[in-house]
Amino acid sequence: MPEGPEVEIVRIGLKDVIGQKVIKVKISDNKKYSEQQKQLNLLKSSEIEKIDRKGKFLLWFFNKRGVTYAALNHLGMTGVWHLYTNHIWNSFASPFEHFKHYKLYFQLSNGDHLLFSDVRTFGQFKIHDPKLILELKSISTLGPDILDLPFKTELFIKRIRGKHNNRTVEIGKALLNPAIVAGCGNIYKSEALFVAKINPFNPVNKISDKKLQKLGVALSRVGQLALKNKGTTLRDYSHVDGYPGLMQNELKIYGRKEESCSSCKSIIKANKQGDRTTYWCSNCQK
Ligand SMILES: [Zn+2]
Repeated sequence: MPEGPEVEIVRIGLKDVIGQKVIKVKISDNKKYSEQQKQLNLLKSSEIEKIDRKGKFLLWFFNKRGVTYAALNHLGMTGVWHLYTNHIWNSFASPFEHFKHYKLYFQLSNGDHLLFSDVRTFGQFKIHDPKLILELKSISTLGPDILDLPFKTELFIKRIRGKHNNRTVEIGKALLNPAIVAGCGNIYKSEALFVAKINPFNPVNKISDKKLQKLGVALSRVGQLALKNKGTTLRDYSHVDGYPGLMQNELKIYGRKEESCSSCKSIIKANKQGDRTTYWCSNCQK
C-alpha cells in the first residue's frame, strides 16, 4: 500500500497537470464512481488548480468560472495515476480496454490523458465541499506528517502518549495510527523501529521519551530516504510516468524474513501484529 512518501511522489509527478483544463471526463461503471457521476461530470471545463497532500491523501482543487471544486483522493492498495501524451495514448488500440481497471479519466486541454486506475478498488476519488474538505475527520485528525521538515517530534510524543499518558498499545500498532504519525504505513514503521532499535511489540508506556525522540528522528530519516528513492515498489505502485520506485532496495528489515540483519547478522524475524506482518531483529531491537 502506498505510504506518505509514495503519495508525495505521485503528487510531484502530477505537477504538469496543474493549470490544465479538463475537457472530457469518463467515469467507470464501478459503483463507487458511477454513483458520483453527476458531481464528477461537473469537473468538465474546470481547471486543475492545485493538488495537496495530507498523510496518504491527495486533495485536488478545481476551478470552474470562479467556483472551486475539491476532491479527496486515496490510492488505497493499488491506485495509480497515469499520464500519457496524446501520441502514446493513441498508440493503444483501445485504451479503456488496455486500462480495464480505470476508475476515472480526464482528457486535458494540452492533449494529455490522465487516468486513475485501481485494481482492487480500495482507493477513492470523492467530491467534497472545498470549504469542508480540511474538516473531514480523516484529514483534521492527522498527526505530524512523516515528511514534515523538521519532523514535529514533540507533537508525535504527545500524540503517542495519549490523553492519559498511559497508552499500553504496542508501538508497532501505534505507528499505523494516522493521528499519531501521518503517512507512515507498515513498511516504514518496521524500518523506523529498526533504525531506532525498538522492538515493535513493546507497549508504548514502557518506552522512554528519549527512545521516542530517537524514533521521531528515525521516522523522519526513513521518510526522507523513501522520498529520495522515489518510494517503494513491491507490486502495484508506480510513478505517474510508469516508472517504479527504488526504495525497496534500501529496506533494511521489511520483507527480509530469515535474512541476516545488516547490523548484527542475527536472523530477521517476522510475525503477525494485528492484521499486518511486522519484521524485526530481536538482537538489535530491545
Ligand atoms: Zn540485528
